[in-house]
Amino acid sequence: MPSPTLLILPGDGIGLEVMTEVRRVISWFQSEHIIDLEVIEDLVGGAAYDVHGTPLSDETLEKARLADAVLLGAVGGEKYEKLDFSLRPERGLLKLRKELDLFANLRPAQCFDSLADFSSLKKEVVSGLDILIVRELTSGVYFGEPRGIFTEGNERVGINTQRYTESEIERVARTAFDLAMHRACRLCSMEKANVMESGVLWREVVTRVGAEYPSVALSHMYADAGAMQLTRDPKQFDVIVTDNLFGDILSDLAAMLTGSLGMLPSASLGALRKNGRPQALYEPVHGSAPDIANRGIANPSACILSFAMALRYSFDLGTEADRLESAVESALADGIRTADLAQADDQVPVSTTEMGDAILSRLENSKRD
Ligand code: NAD
Repeated sequence: MPSPTLLILPGDGIGLEVMTEVRRVISWFQSEHIIDLEVIEDLVGGAAYDVHGTPLSDETLEKARLADAVLLGAVGGEKYEKLDFSLRPERGLLKLRKELDLFANLRPAQCFDSLADFSSLKKEVVSGLDILIVRELTSGVYFGEPRGIFTEGNERVGINTQRYTESEIERVARTAFDLAMHRACRLCSMEKANVMESGVLWREVVTRVGAEYPSVALSHMYADAGAMQLTRDPKQFDVIVTDNLFGDILSDLAAMLTGSLGMLPSASLGALRKNGRPQALYEPVHGSAPDIANRGIANPSACILSFAMALRYSFDLGTEADRLESAVESALADGIRTADLAQADDQVPVSTTEMGDAILSRLENSKRD
C-alpha cells in the first residue's frame, strides 16, 4: 500500500513560520516510525500569486484533490490588497474549499485548564470545555439564489435566499453523527424551525438520519437559544451541527470561549473517497497576521493542533492526535507562553521555535508514559 499523502501549503505571513514547527512535529513522528506519511509542499495565496500570477494554480488544486489531506498555514498580506478581488490570496483558499466541495466545517472549542483565565467567561464555566461545532459550509444563505440588490418601485431591496436540499442536510448530519459516535455520543442540532421552513426541513432530516444512530443522543435547539446556552453553560454540549449562517456565528462565539486565536484549529471535510478517507483541508482559524509576521513570535499551536486533527480524521491515528494535543496542553500547563498568551508583566514570552521545542520535548517525554 502506498503511504498516505499530506499536502502542505504554508501560504503567507506567519503561515510560513508556524508551518516550520509542524514540519518538525511530522519529522518527529516519522523518526519514531509512528506515522508513515508522504509529505509534499506547494504554494498558495500571495506566495502562489508571486510565482504563478494566481493564488491557486490548477496544478496545486490537482495535488490537493489527490492528497489524503491538505494542511494550510494562512494566506493574505498588505502587499496584495490592491489586487483585483479575483487574484487576492484569500480567493485561493476559497477556491480550494469550493473545488474540493468541503461541506462540513469542524471547529473544536477546547479550553485547556491553564488558559481558562483567557476566556471572557468565569473560569469554572469554561475550564475543561471540549465541544465541536460542525457547520455546513457550502450551501445555505451565503449561496442561495436569488441574491442581489434589486429595485422595487422607488427603493432598493437586498435579497439573500436560505436554501437547503435534503441531501445537503443529510450529508452534514451524517458527518456530525459519525463524529459524535467517536466522542461523548451527544449531538445537538440548531436551526430556527419556529420561523424558517428551511429549519423545519433541517430538523426533519436530522431526526431521520438520527434513527440510524441509536447510540447518539440527539437534541434540537433554536439557534438563538443555542447562542444563549453556549455562553450560559457551554459544557452541556458535545457536538453541535448547524447551517452555514448560524454556524458562522456560533463557531466564532464558541471559539472565543477558549481565549486566543493562536490556539484554534479547524478542519473542513468533504465526501468520502474510494480509499475511505474524506477529502479534507486542515487549517488554523487565524490569518497571516501581518502585524507580527517575520518576527518569530507567532504561536504555532493552532497549526500544530490542526495537524492533530488531520491525524485523527484523515489518518486514523486518534491516539497519536491525543498524544500531540496532550503535548501542547502540557507545555501550556508548565507556563510556556508565546506573546499572545503571556499575561503577567514579568513573564518572558517564548518564540515560535521555542514553543515548538517545548511541544517536541513533551512528545519525546510521552514515550516514557
Ligand atoms: P489575523 O488572524 O491574521 O490576526 C488577528 C490578530 O491576531 C493579529 O493581531 C495577530 O497578530 C493575532 N494572531 C493571529 N494569529 C496569531 C498567532 N498564531 N499567534 C499570535 N498572534 C496571532 O486576522 P487579520 O489581521 O484580520 O487578517 C490578516 C490577513 O490574514 C488578511 O490578509 C486576511 O485576509 C487574512 N486572513 C486569512 C485567513 C486564512 O488564511 N484562513 C483567515 C483570516 C484572515
